[in-house]
Amino acid sequence: MTRPFNFSAGPAAMPLEVLQQAAAEMTDWHGSGMGVMEMSHRGKEFISIYEQAEADVRELLAVPANFKILFMQGGGLAENAIVPLNLSRGGKVDVVVTGSWSEKSYKEAAKYCTPHLAATGADTRFTTLPAAAQWQLSGDAQYVHICTNETIHGVEFHSLPDLQTLGCDAPLVIDFSSHVLSRSVDWSKVGVAFGGAQKNIGPAGVTLVIVREDLLGHALPICPSAFNYKTVADNGSMYNTPPTYSIYMAGLTFQWLKRQGGVAAMEQRNIAKAKLLYDFLDSSSFYSNQVAHDCRSRMNVPFFLADESRNDAFLAGAKAAGLLQLKGHKSVGGMRASIYNAMPIEGVEALIAYMRDFETRLA
Ligand SMILES: *Cc1c(COP(=O)(O)O)cnc(C)c1O
Repeated sequence: MTRPFNFSAGPAAMPLEVLQQAAAEMTDWHGSGMGVMEMSHRGKEFISIYEQAEADVRELLAVPANFKILFMQGGGLAENAIVPLNLSRGGKVDVVVTGSWSEKSYKEAAKYCTPHLAATGADTRFTTLPAAAQWQLSGDAQYVHICTNETIHGVEFHSLPDLQTLGCDAPLVIDFSSHVLSRSVDWSKVGVAFGGAQKNIGPAGVTLVIVREDLLGHALPICPSAFNYKTVADNGSMYNTPPTYSIYMAGLTFQWLKRQGGVAAMEQRNIAKAKLLYDFLDSSSFYSNQVAHDCRSRMNVPFFLADESRNDAFLAGAKAAGLLQLKGHKSVGGMRASIYNAMPIEGVEALIAYMRDFETRLA
């Protein structure tokens, strides 16, 4: 079976093998007589699915033992409230705004605490990352928030800031929604990492939260119990009914990732895919990407046609060529190719072949 290549930013393409396995197990999981959607979250069948998924993601991301892995609901945007509810103690927090997603985090935090804009990439329209050495950290912040891959602007941190060398003891909070499992994470620099599943893990509905144990137990009294990291952790993510089917699908993706050689192998593939596409864009006068070279996202590649009046024709031709969902986000315009883990290099090659062909036909 072959399918079109799907460049959606999210919910995004999933590995065909994973979808086929889910289809095969839809009505009867492992001879249990039940589909996964129909199982009690407290039964031994689902508990085994859950424990395997948790162990696999811990292994894939090399998560140290002093971090809890939580499967929550609400997506990345809910975490913009859940993080300050759990970590801010109602005080000051530092936010580095590098695009639309961290901008939302900054605004939402103001409902629960006092966010301080430590740095912003707005002056370059979010095509660069402000250097960490220039951040105006407040010194008494409860945490520092960054979005490590800005899905809309296509800007990615290729290394995490070392807050301690910047004289800051606050924990670093990272929104890694759109590049989780595409690369390794240096946990020595992280306090909390969160990400919605629908970009690089599985279907929407589950949020992966990885939190250092010493950060549990400081939630504001108004924090909803279902969003209190300590409550969720103490109950193995089953304080309330977790999104069981999404967790199962995430688990299938984790198994697929292990068969691919794990995160290190996937990272090499992602580097190769991104290089192919950026090299092509840089060699072209018909297409362009405007993000600074040192912070270009390996996952989300916004690009523009020199003649924007051709955008609709480009998208229609792409669809006919089996290249789906390339329209850019409305706030940036142009095109965007999201090339997450599930996108094979053949998809990037097919995109480039189409882009060359489209340009030639106009010449
Ligand atoms: C998609 C995305 C979100 C929002 O996720 P929701 O599940 O819609 O809440 C947050 N942050 C980043 C970086 C994203 O890419």
